[in-house]
Amino acid sequence: MSALVSVDRVLRRFGSVTAVDSVSLDLAENEFFALLGPSGCGKTTLLRLIAGFERPDGGRIVIAGQDVTQVRPRQRPVNLMFQSYALFPHMSVAKNIAYGLEMERLPKREIDQRVGEVLEITALSPLAKRKPEQLSGGQRQRVALARALVKRPKVLLLDEPLAALDRQLREQMQLELKRLQHEVGITFCIVTHDQEEALVMADRVALMQAGRIAQLGPPQELYEHPATHFVASFIGRMNFFEGEVVAEGLRHPQFGLLQGNVPSTLQVGQSGSLAVRPERLALGPSAASKANRVSGQVKEVSYRGGDLLLQVQVAALEEPLTARLGIETLDTIPELGAEITLGWDKAHSRLLGKD
Ligand code: ADP
Ligand code: MG
Repeated sequence: MSALVSVDRVLRRFGSVTAVDSVSLDLAENEFFALLGPSGCGKTTLLRLIAGFERPDGGRIVIAGQDVTQVRPRQRPVNLMFQSYALFPHMSVAKNIAYGLEMERLPKREIDQRVGEVLEITALSPLAKRKPEQLSGGQRQRVALARALVKRPKVLLLDEPLAALDRQLREQMQLELKRLQHEVGITFCIVTHDQEEALVMADRVALMQAGRIAQLGPPQELYEHPATHFVASFIGRMNFFEGEVVAEGLRHPQFGLLQGNVPSTLQVGQSGSLAVRPERLALGPSAASKANRVSGQVKEVSYRGGDLLLQVQVAALEEPLTARLGIETLDTIPELGAEITLGWDKAHSRLLGKD
């Protein structure tokens, strides 16, 4: 499979800050890709480099077989939807969408046809005559999207497109964006600092850290097989034990051997951590048969949609452990202050080096 967008060792500095530090990645045709990471890690800069609003200090960018490193934004087959999408307040929805095509002086017939199609696909046809002020936040968001889609870019770049929406609407729009991408068959590259959002929407995710890619892969791979401590702690909840890597897992100063499979990237004798997801922890009788067990005191119990979330204070650990247990698997609900034992399988341990 050939890449639609190829970012090759791209570098961008601002004074002493290296915003994008020799990043390489490929976007495939028809892919939903997410750039994820904490604020300031270089996501927007990388998106602007692909769009052509920033020039790299090194490396090159190829889009659809053409080296565009020196090509102006408007000559690139991409469209960047800005973080703050300003609609023209005095224009109708349809006019807002048509504006970009009118600027290109396309024939009126073609403009009408393309605007009609995009209105249809974004479910905005009934609202075509309204002004932006007569729309909800989510509807305005859809108009901004329609305006970008109507220009038929090969790649649509979206910088935190859902950040301004409230939680419920954001979750709804995540699914809608995914459906839309699927339907139009355009490559989407979305920037987000919200790991849940990236996992829900994207086919592949690049998690960035200080201008570099910490890990790139499908959501499940980042979640189940984090490459570093940073990835493990950024994606979802994770419990960590710190110690020394040994052949069978990790030697912890208090618990002794905690079993896990040691990846070839780690060396016996180095310091490292063992990570285990909250949903991999078992309680009571089902913990007894597990390779790894630790005991502690229940500090907090909360319900989370069919699951029970426990915070368990373990004497040797600074942070309490988090366990996520299916309610149907429990004979009794643990009480606050109770001493309990949690266990997990060797296969569910993830051994990580120091970042
Ligand atoms: P993100 O989108 O992940 O929050 P940015 O790409 O906006 O991160 O910024 C990455 C780094 O580059 C930050 O340290 C930021 O302060 C710096 N930066 C971005 N744009 C500029 C600029 N135009 N001038 C100076 N520094 C910048
Ligand atoms: Mg940004």
